[in-house]
Amino acid sequence: MHKIAVLTSGGDSPGMNAAIRSVVRTCAYMNVECMAIYRGYQGMIEGDFVAMNARSVNNIINKGGTILKSARCEDFKTPEGRKKAHEQLVQAGISGFVVIGGDGSFTGATIFNKEYDFPVIGIPGTIDNDIFGTRYTLGFDTALNTVVDAIDKIRDTASSHNRLFFVEVMGRDVGHIALNAGVAAGAEEILIPEENLGLDRLLESLRRSKKTGKSSSIVVVAEGDKTGKNVFELKEYVEEHLPIYDVRVSVLGHMQRGGPPSAFDRVLASRMGVKAVEALIAGKTNLMVGIIDNEIVLTPIAEAIKGHTKIDRELVRVSDIMTI
Ligand code: ADP
Repeated sequence: MHKIAVLTSGGDSPGMNAAIRSVVRTCAYMNVECMAIYRGYQGMIEGDFVAMNARSVNNIINKGGTILKSARCEDFKTPEGRKKAHEQLVQAGISGFVVIGGDGSFTGATIFNKEYDFPVIGIPGTIDNDIFGTRYTLGFDTALNTVVDAIDKIRDTASSHNRLFFVEVMGRDVGHIALNAGVAAGAEEILIPEENLGLDRLLESLRRSKKTGKSSSIVVVAEGDKTGKNVFELKEYVEEHLPIYDVRVSVLGHMQRGGPPSAFDRVLASRMGVKAVEALIAGKTNLMVGIIDNEIVLTPIAEAIKGHTKIDRELVRVSDIMTI
């Protein structure tokens, strides 16, 4: 392995820069050349490559987003697009790449690997924590802390006005951010896709809260929750069926994807980057780096994209007890 490339692809997440830094510095340490690919697979197709050395990644470990930019690229979904990408990689003398991204980016990588027998290793970078083969994805911990911080602030205003807030958080089809943030921020109810408790139970819980003397409440709603109602419809529903509350909605949105990565994400990114480069140099391919029981491990990409890390049932129980 003479020259390794690194790219970020799909949705960005805090910690991607720390992972880029780790890949670049590990290459320098191992005396392997390193190229950055800008703008994900789009940049791969267009040959948007820049040679990196250990100093190219100074002062980025603390920065959110990705210095390499991320992009979505429809062309890479076509054999013609991938052919162009392959030609660019070969022309630049690149013999393997590390892709930092989510399941879409990994799907592209594994298809490319099969077509051209080209070595690829994935690093899971997404705030949603929705990838199998790792307990934590890069950016999840940072996003979680951002959400908890935001809910703390919402709670201040909620309690000043005796209001009920529905706070919508990201997570696509999984409730990891919602469940963990809900427990950490002391939410009264947490609505996650993995568990549909039904609207009756929500009303019952809110009624009980009011009766037991709570004057304000926070309900955390995962964006993919299965009540069949979005946060604005939930507000209307509660106003109609439980007119004792003054209800407000807060959709946290893209702020959840930004900000300096947490210490946890920086350490995780550094560990994953080292493992990714070592794996490529050892001739391994089509694998994703993950963390399980605090060990950095490799899982076939095909498995990683098939499923999600399951929601923590023990935490669901804890949450139920805390919302008594
Ligand atoms: P994420 O990696 O965050 O899940 P996307 O799902 O948008 O983000 O995927 C990122 C990119 O990965 C896409 O824009 C595309 O270039 C590539 N990709 C996704 N799915 C495929 C696929 N089935 N075949 C080839 N490339 C894909």
